[in-house]
Amino acid sequence: MKPIKLLFLISCFLLHGFFNAQEKVDRYTLIQNVNIFDGVTSQLNTNQQVLIKNNLIDQISANISAPRGATVIDGQGMTLMPGLIEGHGHLQMNGSSISDIENNRNWEELAVRSVVNAENALMSGFTSWRDAGGMGAGLKKTIDAGLLAGPRIYPSGGFIGPTGSHADFRNFNTPNETMNGVLSNGGRLGMTLTADGVDAIKAAARQNFMQGASQIKIMSSGGVVSQFDPWQLDAYSEEEIRAAVEIADAYGSYVLSHAYSKKSIMRCLKNGVKTIEHCFMFDGDVARLMEEKGAYMTTNMQAFSPALSQVSAISASPASARKANSAQKAFENYLDNVRQYRPKLGFQGDCVGMPEACNKQNDHQIYLGAEFFGNHYWLKALTSVNGEILKLSGEVLDPYPEGKLGVIEVGAYADILIVDGNPLEDITVIGGNEKWFDAPVRDGIETMKVIMKDGVIYKNTLD
Ligand SMILES: [Zn+2]
Repeated sequence: MKPIKLLFLISCFLLHGFFNAQEKVDRYTLIQNVNIFDGVTSQLNTNQQVLIKNNLIDQISANISAPRGATVIDGQGMTLMPGLIEGHGHLQMNGSSISDIENNRNWEELAVRSVVNAENALMSGFTSWRDAGGMGAGLKKTIDAGLLAGPRIYPSGGFIGPTGSHADFRNFNTPNETMNGVLSNGGRLGMTLTADGVDAIKAAARQNFMQGASQIKIMSSGGVVSQFDPWQLDAYSEEEIRAAVEIADAYGSYVLSHAYSKKSIMRCLKNGVKTIEHCFMFDGDVARLMEEKGAYMTTNMQAFSPALSQVSAISASPASARKANSAQKAFENYLDNVRQYRPKLGFQGDCVGMPEACNKQNDHQIYLGAEFFGNHYWLKALTSVNGEILKLSGEVLDPYPEGKLGVIEVGAYADILIVDGNPLEDITVIGGNEKWFDAPVRDGIETMKVIMKDGVIYKNTLD
């Protein structure tokens, strides 16, 4: 290229940059008169103000003067706190059961329903969402592009499990997919990946990363609502778990694993899995290894609800009901062990369904965790601990690398709720409900007055 032409191009770029810088006007929101729960501390920081610059928290102090043009919100002495974080949800798993999804739903219905679920999640205060299997990055990209309202999503892609595992959606008489190339509906849609052996697992993990997953989900033990696996099943061998971890490592990310039995939990931790999902046989040995490895766990509290037997996937299937019964007996020390060892525990809703059912289930779980472990510990699970879990995706794959999540501090993302009341004393102000199936159908949470994500207000019912 001739020097004169190059010079012209460079000056064009410089001018373009200059005008872009001139066009960009910083957007400020100042929230006054609030008490802050920062996601970590057990006491509220009273009479504070929070300044938001664009999408990040810029200042927190008792006295901030509003920049010119700032939107000013009077928090009326209410509580300002981080947006809630779902540590293990399934926006796209939105049938009434696995077999309902497998047999009755095509891609179009599942996709459109996931949009409804995403909007409902945000309007229930969940500003971030780790999707623990069943979807790639399509919904996330659409939300990030501003076309839909929904939480930030960390997708895990299709969950990876062996033949006959918790990830196997096929019907009893469906041939093995490697025999005739016949996949399950879930497999065809990329919601689930059946992978036996090291090579198949590596290929499945790579496939998920290729399609935008920020971490990898495996099923290393059996489950209750799946058809072919006893919950005690030790589904993946050490070398199979290591295969998934090796690929996640190569992307600077991590593996989360569905694990109920102690054997499976310990095997996962020893082989590099960073978050144990459900982790019902948590005890002192698990606590020590988890701490040594810097690992986390998330647990769905509805497993300990007296109303568990009313879950349709359990009540409709005698086999699942039997499994649930034996599992509840085996998991009876979980609550006492968590109270004793206080692990790094994140909230998980794990709902498979649509808003009406999922709101009832999640509200109930928000209530149960606070009942079992105290409001402060459970609020951390819903905010700062899950924020740390999301960041395990690593610098390269983290889709939201600009700031921290789940905390109110300078430099963190402006994902903020204002609630009428103090959630450290009363968990119902963020939706907690003692009732489950007999709870009334709700539309939003009345005491949740403001919902902000990425500095943008999605709800404001302050007078
Ligand atoms: Zn799940």
